[in-house]
Amino acid sequence: MKRSMTYDVTLIPGDGIGPEIAEATRRVLEATGVRFNWDIQEAGEKIIGKYGTPLPDHVLDSIRTNKIALKGPITTPVGSGFRSVNVALRQSLDLYVNLRPAKTFPGVRSRYDGVDLVIVRENTEDLYAGIEFEYGTPELAQIVEHIYELAGKRIAKDSAISIKSISRSASLRVVRFAFEYALANRRQKVTAIHKANIMKFSDGLFLSSASEVARAYPGVAFEDRIVDNMAMQLVQKPEIYDVLVLPNLYGDIISDLCAGLVGGLGLAPGANIGDQAAVFEPVHGSAPKYAGKNKANPMAMMLSGSMMLKHLGELEATDRLERAIAAVIADGKLVTYDLKDNPDDPAAVGTSAVADAVIDKLDSI
Ligand code: NAD
Repeated sequence: MKRSMTYDVTLIPGDGIGPEIAEATRRVLEATGVRFNWDIQEAGEKIIGKYGTPLPDHVLDSIRTNKIALKGPITTPVGSGFRSVNVALRQSLDLYVNLRPAKTFPGVRSRYDGVDLVIVRENTEDLYAGIEFEYGTPELAQIVEHIYELAGKRIAKDSAISIKSISRSASLRVVRFAFEYALANRRQKVTAIHKANIMKFSDGLFLSSASEVARAYPGVAFEDRIVDNMAMQLVQKPEIYDVLVLPNLYGDIISDLCAGLVGGLGLAPGANIGDQAAVFEPVHGSAPKYAGKNKANPMAMMLSGSMMLKHLGELEATDRLERAIAAVIADGKLVTYDLKDNPDDPAAVGTSAVADAVIDKLDSI
């Protein structure tokens, strides 16, 4: 076993269930035998009083220095309040790929078998860029006038506006990542998802960029699908799809759909990857109703940790951790409520007991 290195990793426990699942994940990662030097950093609402911002520079600097972070979910107030720390972090560090595998584990209560999808979501632009004009403001009135002058189309004056922009450069690099991922992981096909029939310019540019990149990878099949059709097809025949590449908003929605195909958010890991840094985090949010109750499933964050191990080149540890998690799921006993047939099953165990179970399996694998 490779044990020479100690990895410096920024650990952001996050909000809600974050600290509990982060602790469970830290324990199983250490139990693989890989050594970590954790640089623990806080972000989110709880530190605004101290630093005046939910995402202070020292947190970003820590990730820039370590180049790797493991992160729990962070709460974003809906509608008002600060903008998403998660989105800001991805944009500040130019983490342009959001990688979200969705794979069926044997033994999971799910409507499907044999799903093995990888979502490659563009992570920096589209409607998530945060360029918005608020209802009732002078800026809104101005932009409505400008749009009328430029496009000859009238937007109702009592509107709010969010800008959707898609660039050729961001589209090319995310699609290139999807094809490189397909090659490196022996995947057969990349499907680009869009709504270019309606959004001819923005989604049209994403699609033409994807087709252009595809021509450079003749060994990997390429096709495109319109997003609404894709949502239906994924529900009907997910097994015929492989790597999916999408603009930001569709990627967010379709990856939750895919998480639902394989047993829910408790098993959906993710990574945000750029050229300079990578941040690994579960797809799910901070599930405030379970905060502090030792109830949440830590496996999505553990699987994100396993993606981190793979990214670090610790392939043996990656494989062992995934097999250990799969074995605990297959046993079906020491799992949280969401993996039980009946969510009220009193035999469901807590977050920390799942970590103990995975560590036991790691010892016996
Ligand atoms: P959520 O993912 O927190 O919860 C959705 C549902 O799934 C809830 O029923 C929840 O209890 C359940 N759930 C989620 N994770 C679970 C787990 N590990 N184990 C068992 N059950 C789990 O989504 P939400 O309620 O829409 O969002 C809550 C907060 O999280 C919001 O403030 C949102 O902005 C934030 N959020 C953060 C991130 C992130 O940090 N990357 C991602 C999504 C949402």
